[in-house]
Formats: sequence, structure tokens, C-alpha cells
Amino acid sequence: MSNYNDTSFWFNTMDHKPTVRPSLPGNIDADVAIIGAGYTGLWTAYYLKEQDPALNVVVLEADIAGYGASGRNGGWVAGYIAGLDKYVAPLPMEKRRECCRILFENVDNIGSRLEAEGIDAHFHKGGVLYAAARYPEQEAMQRKMLAQLYEAGHTEEDCRWLNARELAEKVRLRNGLGAVYKSHCATVNPARMARGLAAAVEKKGVRIYEKTRVTSFRSGEVTTEHGVVRAPVVVPALEGYSSSVGGFGRYIIPVQSLIVATEPLSESLWKEIGLEGREAFCDGSRMVSYGQKSADGRMIFGARGGYVYGGKPRSHFSLANDEFRVREELMYDLFPMLRGVKITHGWGGSLGMPRNFAPHAIFDLEAGIATAGGYGGQGVGPSHLFGRTLADMILGRETELTRMPWVFNNASHHQALRKWEPEPFRWLTSKTIVKAFTWEENLYLKIKGSAFSKSVANNVSNALSRLMR
Ligand SMILES: Cc1cc2nc3c(=O)[nH]c(=O)nc-3n(C[C@H](O)[C@H](O)[C@H](O)COP(=O)(O)OP(=O)(O)OC[C@H]3O[C@@H](n4cnc5c(N)ncnc54)[C@H](O)[C@@H]3O)c2cc1C
Repeated sequence: MSNYNDTSFWFNTMDHKPTVRPSLPGNIDADVAIIGAGYTGLWTAYYLKEQDPALNVVVLEADIAGYGASGRNGGWVAGYIAGLDKYVAPLPMEKRRECCRILFENVDNIGSRLEAEGIDAHFHKGGVLYAAARYPEQEAMQRKMLAQLYEAGHTEEDCRWLNARELAEKVRLRNGLGAVYKSHCATVNPARMARGLAAAVEKKGVRIYEKTRVTSFRSGEVTTEHGVVRAPVVVPALEGYSSSVGGFGRYIIPVQSLIVATEPLSESLWKEIGLEGREAFCDGSRMVSYGQKSADGRMIFGARGGYVYGGKPRSHFSLANDEFRVREELMYDLFPMLRGVKITHGWGGSLGMPRNFAPHAIFDLEAGIATAGGYGGQGVGPSHLFGRTLADMILGRETELTRMPWVFNNASHHQALRKWEPEPFRWLTSKTIVKAFTWEENLYLKIKGSAFSKSVANNVSNALSRLMR
């Protein structure tokens, strides 16, 4: 692929067409070898060099920086992600509040770093209209989720319930009964952030080798198609590509996620829709439809993931594929006023899903292997926090970040993570879950099923949700 405009809509908004950096010239030595130039790898490199400018850090990227999920995502920078509840819930309230503070500050820290580095990634902190409920059972579920957020250390300033009228003042979506407004969320243009960050990292003295696919790695050594890098610390930052190299594929599997973008919408259409504050939004469905208003006034709308048998990451998508029609229909269902506007872009990417549905930052001191990920489709914000955390761990610094409950210092990934079930169970489970969730939603929103069928579908979906935890 020579024209990266096909990668995602975001690549079309770059000031310049991305130029490809040179590949690894042959065998070299380094202090830290990072595999993958997405946000995780790049932020780790950034904070390593900031704290220790003399460190020799290299980043090895199979394609170009930002080619993975980091240049393709929906651009939400969320302050708190659901998977973290697992770590936070058992802690005393004081510690829970500290975790929340770290996560909330992380959003602002990204904004200030982008500003300090002169990266114009259209960072905008407008909060998020979260999990908009569209039928009473969904409202009950979302109100319960809000209660859990308060339990997890959030305050009313961090998040609060908007009733149907308050929600409609902010966004007019079909059947909106209410939503949680969370203030700690921003939106960005993901590819501008990834490419800008790569340039900032390079300015700090990190060498990024593009078109340099890693074929294997172990303690002290990374083998690529162009040579070997010997380094006492190796950082696989592969997330949705974890199954393609090394032994992480049983722990993090790739899930595909797809997005569509409309043409820039007229002022009058935006008046009908709302989102005046450029808030991010998502509905309350179990499979989550979400989006943002881009800086140039397009509706960016993502929905539903997909797992393919055997778990291979996917990087090529075409708007001509039928799978995009599903996303378009979900978008029209939420925003009927968008029917008839032109869908100009459709793309997708692979994100990493861990078996325990919670992200992690791990440093195996003995093996010299540090890694972070498992963000499950919510990694734009956390990859910054976790990159900083990995840098602290690699430099042997004990900080408030390394004391967070999602950090596994001095542990291997075998100890810290759970393995996925082998095939065909993984594939069958994912198919069953998607079918049950779609069935439940259709009964409530489309077919208007009987009370009995709704209750059966709701109970089956609840049971499957519990099974996934
Ligand atoms: C369609 C989509 C929408 C999303 N929306 C959101 C959102 O709105 N908000 C949010 O918080 N998160 C979202 N996410 C998730 C988020 O994008 C990711 O969590 C985040 O970008 C992960 O960054 P990363 O650096 O860990 O992984 P990646 O960005 O995937 O980076 C991994 C890198 O490794 C490279 N690579 C792969 N194999 C090799 C190899 N063998 N050798 C060398 N390099 C290799 C890849 O090319 C890639 O550049 C979304 C993801 C997708 C796919």
C-alpha cells in the first residue's frame, strides 16, 4: 500500500502525506528495543528519553508509525475505562479515588503534552454522553452502572445522570431516555496524534525503523526481517497484533472494529443533531455504538466488533464491503436525520482483547521484557498512562504510577494474564454472544417482542455478560 489515505479517514487529514522512515540497516545494539510504533510503544519511548536522554531507544515498526489501531480509532480519550473496575473495586475508597484522579489527570496530561510538542491533533475536551439508554431496561442498567462508578470513586462532578430532556438538550438521538455525562473525556484526530507523536519521539533522539517487521523476540534480542537488535530490555507493544509474533497471542486476541465517516454536515443538520460542545457519545447497547463530531464537521460513527476464527489481525478494509452497511444502519437508527447524507469513508482495525477484559502494564525484570495493553478498544487514553508507567518501571523508579493496581512489576505475562480458551471455543463463544446481544436489542428496538421473549433475551444476555467477566 503506497497511499495511506486508505488506512483511515484520519490519514486524509494530515498536513503532508506520510513519508516512510528507513528500515533497520542491519544488526545493532540498543538499551531498549520497542516493537510497534502505536501509542503504547511511542509514549513508552517518549517518557524513557525524557527521563534519561542518554538512553539508546529504538522502535521497530512493521509498517509506518500509526498504521495499527492508533491511526484508525474513534478518537475518544476516555478518563476511565470499564475493565479497570476489577482492579479498583476491592480497594479502600481513598485508594479508589486516587486511581480515579490518576486516570482523570491522564486526559489533561495528554492535552498538555500535545500542546507542548506542537502536535495539532485536534484535542478537544468536551466530555462524553455515555451509554445513552433507549428503552427502560437499558436505563435501569445504565443507572446501575452509574452507581458502580460512584462506588469506584467518582463524584457527581466526574459523572452524573442526564434525564431525557437534559440529554436532548445536548444530543437528539432516537428514543433517548437518558445518559451518563462524564466530564473527563476528550476527542482527538488519532492519526495526527500518532504521526505527530512519532516525530516528537524522534526529536528526543529515539530511532524509529519503519517497514521493519519483527519475526521473533526473546530476552535480550529482537529478530527482524532486516537484522537483529540486541537490547537488555525488550518492549512488545503490539496490542491487536500480539498473535502475530512472540508468545502473547494466547493472552491477547485481535478483535476487528469498524467505523464510518460522513461528508462534512451542514450547520442546520448539526443543529438538528446537537453535540454543540463536541461531546463524544455512545449508546447503551451491550455492543456499543459510539462516535464524535470531527473537527471538520463530519459524523464519525463506530459500532460492533468482530472476531474471526483463529484470531488473525486485519488491516485492509473496503467501504464496498457489506459489513459497513450494518454500521450505517445502526447510525441511521440512532440519528434518522442522517439518512441521505454521503458516507465518504469506511475503515477498520484490530484491537487487543485480553481474557480478563482488563488492561495491564507488566515488567518482567528477570527476562527484561516490559509490555502494556489489553485495552479492549479503549486504549487511546490508557496507552499514554501505561507508556509512562512502563518507562518508570524500566528505569527502576517507584512512582505513584507504578503503585497502581493494574501494574505487575516483577512478574511475567504468564503470571499476570489469563489465557484465552483454544479454538473452536473462542470463536463459538464470540458468535453466541454477538447473536444473543443482537437478539435482545432487536426485541426491544425493532420487533418490539413480547414481555416473555424480552425477559428471556435479557436473562441470557446478562448471563453471558457475567460469563465474560
Ligand atoms: C476501529 C477502532 C476504533 C477504536 N476506537 C477507540 C476509541 O475511540 N477510543 C479508545 O480509547 N480506543 C479506541 N480503539 C483502541 C485504540 O485504538 C487502541 O487501544 C490503541 O491505539 C492501542 O495502541 P497500541 O500502540 O497498543 O497498538 P497499535 O496502535 O495497534 O500498535 C501496534 C503496532 O505494531 C505494529 N506491528 C504489528 N506487527 C508487528 C511486527 N511483527 N513487528 C513490528 N511491528 C508490528 C503495527 O503495525 C502497529 O503500528 C479503537 C481501535 C480500533 C481498531
